[in-house]
Amino acid sequence: MMSAVAGLVPEVTTILSNAVALHPVIPKETLAKFRVTLPTLHRLVDYLDPQWGNHADTVMEKLVTAWVLATHRECDNRVCRLASFTHGTGKPTLWRHENLNAATHEWVKQEFGRVPTSFFEQIYKCVKAGHLLGVEHLPGLPENFGTGPLPQTDARFVFFAGTENVCFLPQSQLKTYQYFDQIRPGYHGVHYLPGYGHSDPFIGEYASRDVFPLMLAELER
Ligand SMILES: [Zn+2]
Repeated sequence: MMSAVAGLVPEVTTILSNAVALHPVIPKETLAKFRVTLPTLHRLVDYLDPQWGNHADTVMEKLVTAWVLATHRECDNRVCRLASFTHGTGKPTLWRHENLNAATHEWVKQEFGRVPTSFFEQIYKCVKAGHLLGVEHLPGLPENFGTGPLPQTDARFVFFAGTENVCFLPQSQLKTYQYFDQIRPGYHGVHYLPGYGHSDPFIGEYASRDVFPLMLAELER
C-alpha cells in the first residue's frame, strides 16, 4: 500500500509515504513465489481476489481458495488469509494480528478486491530492477523512478517503515529515503515504526498513539 498525505503549509508540501516507496524490496520467500508461481498463476486466473474468502464462483476460484485456506491457518478470517496469500507470503502479510483489535480484523472481510496478475508481474520486474518502472510509457513520466534526478519540487518527503513489514521490507523505505537524502541532504525524513507491519500503521489499534502523532508532527514542520 502506498499512502501519501499532503499537508500544505505555506509554499512547501510535506508528503508522507508508508511502506512502498520507489525501491521495493520484498522477502526472499515472496521473490521465490513470484519466480515459481507467477507463470502458472497467469495461465489459471486473471486476478486474485481475497473476496473469494466470502464467495468463490468458478471452479478455479474455489480451488485456489481451498489451497490457500489449507496452507494459511493463522486465523479464522478467510479474507485475511486470502489477502495474505494475494499480497505476499506472510502469515499474515499486511499487518501483525497483535496490532489489530477484533472489530478491525472483522472489518477487513469487506475490504480488498481483485488484484490483476499483471500487477504482480510488474512488481516482480520492479523488484528485480531495484526501483519502480513505468508501465504504459506515458508522456511526461520517466521510464525509471528513483534513479535519476528528483522531480522539480520543493516538497519534503517523509518515509515511514514498519520494522516488521513482510509485504515490502523496511529497507524499501530506507533506500528511497537515501535516494532523496543524497540529492538534498538533511531535508527529507525517515521514521521506523517498531512492531508495525504494512497496513497496521493506519489501522492498528494503537496507531493513533504510536504513529499518527509522528505523521502530524512531520506535516506541521
Ligand atoms: Zn487474520
